[in-house]
Amino acid sequence: MKASQFYINTLKEAPADAEVVSHQLMTRAGMIKKLGAGVYTYMPMGLRVIRKVEAIVREEMNRAGAVECVMPVVQPGELWSESGRFQTMGPELLRVKDRHERDFVIQPTSEEAVTDIARQDLRSYKQLPKNLYQIQTKFRDERRPRFGLMRGREFVMKDAYSFDRDEAGAKASYQAMAKAYRAIFDRFGLTYRAVSADSGAIGGDLSEEFQVIASTGEDAIVYSTGSDYAANMEKAEALAPAGPRPAATQALTRTPTPGKSTCADVAELLQLPLTQTVKSLVLATDELNEQGEIVKSQVWLLLLRGDHDMNEIKVSKVPGLDKGFRFATVPEILAHFGTKPGYLGPIGLKQPVKLVADREVALMADWVCGANEEDLHLTGVNWGRDLPEPDLVVDIRNVVAGDAAPDGKGQLAIERGIEIGHIFYLGTKYSVAMNATFLAEDGKPRHFEMGCYGIGITRLPAAAIEQNHDERGIIWPDALAPFTVVICPVGMDRSEAVKAAAEALYADLLAAGVDVILDDRGERPGAMFADWELIGVPHRVTIGDKSLKEGQVEYQHRRDGEATKVPAGDIAAFVK
Ligand code: ATP
Ligand code: MG
Ligand code: MG
Ligand code: MG
Repeated sequence: MKASQFYINTLKEAPADAEVVSHQLMTRAGMIKKLGAGVYTYMPMGLRVIRKVEAIVREEMNRAGAVECVMPVVQPGELWSESGRFQTMGPELLRVKDRHERDFVIQPTSEEAVTDIARQDLRSYKQLPKNLYQIQTKFRDERRPRFGLMRGREFVMKDAYSFDRDEAGAKASYQAMAKAYRAIFDRFGLTYRAVSADSGAIGGDLSEEFQVIASTGEDAIVYSTGSDYAANMEKAEALAPAGPRPAATQALTRTPTPGKSTCADVAELLQLPLTQTVKSLVLATDELNEQGEIVKSQVWLLLLRGDHDMNEIKVSKVPGLDKGFRFATVPEILAHFGTKPGYLGPIGLKQPVKLVADREVALMADWVCGANEEDLHLTGVNWGRDLPEPDLVVDIRNVVAGDAAPDGKGQLAIERGIEIGHIFYLGTKYSVAMNATFLAEDGKPRHFEMGCYGIGITRLPAAAIEQNHDERGIIWPDALAPFTVVICPVGMDRSEAVKAAAEALYADLLAAGVDVILDDRGERPGAMFADWELIGVPHRVTIGDKSLKEGQVEYQHRRDGEATKVPAGDIAAFVK
């Protein structure tokens, strides 16, 4: 590819709504362009990366015995009524009507469509097992699309579905996918962790998420420092002992002084260690009526954050504190109020803080919210509606770093991750709901045992950038780079020798099957280098008159601080 023919559009500034580095860099590098909220055009430079993701995923899926197909983006609502999801799924499912007023959905996933295929085509146990996959556009009307391709509304997913004759077969299919996923994410050179995830109503342990480790990740993951135990926070919380944590039940030996006590004081009172890990507490006071029923509750949040200047966060004057206050955990509060976490604020930092949970936020009316200064409480707050977007996101969890691991081996540590893949043993959930059967060996109809397996194709480059960038731009692993090598001739328009050398190397690399781009735009070296460093091409060859006279060109890897002189004749071998 020649740069003059290709579509290159780099930007100096990132858009104001780009909060994370991958969104900023992908936009600045001209890889994506926003069309609407959570809806992006994959520009030529970005599409090349996405195609590389697809190619590797496809190769490993095929190797694992899965077969590719493509199911419709627009699917009949009727089919989704069979599984019940047309009715039960929330507003993430985009429902549309055609000109005959018939219901359709834009697929957010494809269990229904694939189960419909299986019940028509897979009639005998002899045709099993089968694993059908597609790499296809999805639409989810996300509550909060953000971070560019990381959480789009329209995005591309690889989704696979396995059909087996029995549970043992389905579990073997699941394990084959677990293995393929590791192969895939290893090839992308990502640092990731496979964590067990909640398999919800289906039960059992057969659901794992593949989480790319990144501080900007939206998920909290928990792992043991002493064993292989690793789970997402939801799952870890489900396993944690119910009720208040032991520290919470301890009687307070003294009362924090309103306006004076720091979080450290409170931590001491509650006998909690202060660590570097994000940690927070919720304090609740309840006003009871004569029957002992709660008539009014107030909730305060204390941030205990080692990295946050916690000594400045003071305990607020809590009305009713003199009557004693309780330390409550989020699950407790949820159980109390029968609702889900939302927003609290302003707290300490005079900014709203989002209470994070992997659950939908329900509206809560008429709350009194905490502050660290007198008279700064908000009253009549409706969680999830009144407050502006938080500047700070803190997890409120029942599981904290330092807890003993559930397997008794080591302590729990918490880190943040980006969910890049998810594998799931489904059992007969969909085959029963949709009456999808095959004839078993005994001649009787049996429901398919199923599994489903997703990878966020368009989320993956964003996750890779979160792990691979510097102040100059993206640093693509070779496997993902839009171009593996860029040739930067300096003074190509003035020097025949440079032009000839650049063209010759370009032809050589193309012939060798290397993904090479020749920057023939005639840009000044500074601007040219800045572009390619922003775009993140891993290998750069600079050809200039001076070194060419000595028979040399300059090679620089995107991670190198400076260029190395290499004999012109050796360069092809160098970058291949
Ligand atoms: P999340 O927890 O991030 O909302 P999910 O659990 O809803 O993801 P799955 O239904 O497990 O997602 O879908 C499989 C994969 O699709 C995810 O692991 C993720 O990589 C990708 N994915 C899901 N939602 C989005 C989105 N809004 N934008 C981009 N990729 C997504
Ligand atoms: Mg989701
Ligand atoms: Mg998830
Ligand atoms: Mg998931």
